[in-house]
Amino acid sequence: MKYIESLEVAMIYLNRIRDLMMGKTSMKEVSYPPRPIGEVHASHLDGLCPLQAYYEWTLPDVPPHDGNTLMNFCTGRMFEHQLATELPPIVKDGIQLTLDDDLGEDGICELKFTKGYLKSFQMSKYPWWICRCKQYCKVREVDWMNLAVGFLNDVVLKAWRLEFTQEEIDSNWDTCLNRRDLLLESVRIKDPTILTWYKDALKRKQCSWGVWKGGKGCRMKPVCHIYNTEVLPSL
Ligand code: SF4
Repeated sequence: MKYIESLEVAMIYLNRIRDLMMGKTSMKEVSYPPRPIGEVHASHLDGLCPLQAYYEWTLPDVPPHDGNTLMNFCTGRMFEHQLATELPPIVKDGIQLTLDDDLGEDGICELKFTKGYLKSFQMSKYPWWICRCKQYCKVREVDWMNLAVGFLNDVVLKAWRLEFTQEEIDSNWDTCLNRRDLLLESVRIKDPTILTWYKDALKRKQCSWGVWKGGKGCRMKPVCHIYNTEVLPSL
């Protein structure tokens, strides 16, 4: 993968914000119908902990999101909703994808927002963002796209053009198909341990994400077998 900063794409979004401030635009409304239980979304396969989907699909009651998580989600979602065209969902091979934007000759674009700081930002620290971009390239049959990132604490928006080889795109999609099959099978046989990539999430301490924002981390902790048998004893 190669990536280079795209001032042009950042400027597209900054100009949209300028328009918003001047009351000159209104983004089109796209409504996503509720995703049925068991329908695989690209975000279930991008390398973040897959057990959250597993528990959502297999337990009758799961702990609710806490207020901090809801507010953090809403912050990023509001930015996306105001700035991105938000395309209707695409389904390929039983996987639903929700691409943020199509900028015409400037390419397709995914928007992300983070409380991380630009100074310490490294693309390689966000492999799940890269995975999602490769998923979008696969379904749109392109080998490059844009990633725009809003750094909320720095109050700055940056964009990069990401270029992939066809082999990178295809092998990423194969990984996602494999994960899709495992996710569906884990639900069928009621065994989350076959979702082996949860171990990467544990290495990243994903269970505790949210602590630094004042949150309590993953909402599944009270019901998560993996957390209670593999993580908690080592704390
Ligand atoms: S508690 Fe940890 S292992 Fe369990 S679902 Fe959440 S992130 Fe995954």
